[in-house]
Amino acid sequence: LARLTSGLSRSSRQLSDNIAGVFTRRKLDDETLEELEDILIQADLGVETAMRVTDALATTRLGRDVSPEEVRDVMATEIEKVLAPVARPLELDLSFRPHVILVVGVNGTGKTTTIGKLAAKLRAAGLSVTLGAGDTFRAAAIEQLKIWSERTGSQFVGTKLGADAAGLAYEAYERARDNGSDVVIIDTAGRLQNKAELMDELAKIVRVLQKHDPDAPHTVLQTLDATTGQNALNQVDIFRNIAGVNGLVMTKLDGTARGGILVAISAKFGLPVYFIGVGEGVDDLEPFRASDFARAIAG
Ligand code: GDP
Repeated sequence: LARLTSGLSRSSRQLSDNIAGVFTRRKLDDETLEELEDILIQADLGVETAMRVTDALATTRLGRDVSPEEVRDVMATEIEKVLAPVARPLELDLSFRPHVILVVGVNGTGKTTTIGKLAAKLRAAGLSVTLGAGDTFRAAAIEQLKIWSERTGSQFVGTKLGADAAGLAYEAYERARDNGSDVVIIDTAGRLQNKAELMDELAKIVRVLQKHDPDAPHTVLQTLDATTGQNALNQVDIFRNIAGVNGLVMTKLDGTARGGILVAISAKFGLPVYFIGVGEGVDDLEPFRASDFARAIAG
């Protein structure tokens, strides 16, 4: 929580300064509400949530003096209402054996690191895990995943740089099944520069996994970088369509993050948000908690 709060501190301070700028010695009226709405949109919260906040204020406090603290409280409450339905624990259906987790997202958003942290959690819960290095485009990604497998006591299935990612996914499943793993987690490349190729590659990965198990991949996680801002919205839209994303992880909330976009994404897509990344270490993956996050954003 401390890391999340400090990661979001710059943007939340900016937001609360702006709110204080509007509501110091001014009444809640159409003009101040409009200014507030603009501020909330600038903070990436999205039009829908911005209007929720201003509506909530308007119905109870119109024509009255309101303090910046009151505004921030209402804002935190309304943001929490948006986030509560998506803040869900990751529950893996282990009747699928191995349960297949496919991890997708734009390069650099934290896929490999998140896989390592997640593997550590699953291992700590007593599960056996195989990691498949399906980001065959970057030598560093393969090497990093191997290191994470050693660190977490997971099995590792890798291949040569430039090898076929779908072939690797097929083999990772096979090896996971044969070694009795409960879970196999497959890394992927996220080269958004060539969308057609990326789409083909992910579709092919899904197709070969389904030769093993028609329900695979059972969990498709997308990582989002909290420092990205508005573009994260497009990223979810793209990967949801091409990879069937059914859960999100927002990383890098420890840095100079702008977490507002996660509120807009939640309002728009309603996808579960399972974890947040708050650092590069093995323990820096935390469950997503709506009230903590709402408070950290509202300042
Ligand atoms: P990938 O290309 O999507 O696999 O991304 P990586 O897992 O390689 O991560 C890219 C960079 O972001 C690496 O330097 C990671 O250490 C770093 N990173 C990942 N998650 C976090 C996080 O939650 N906080 C911070 N500060 N850095 C992170």
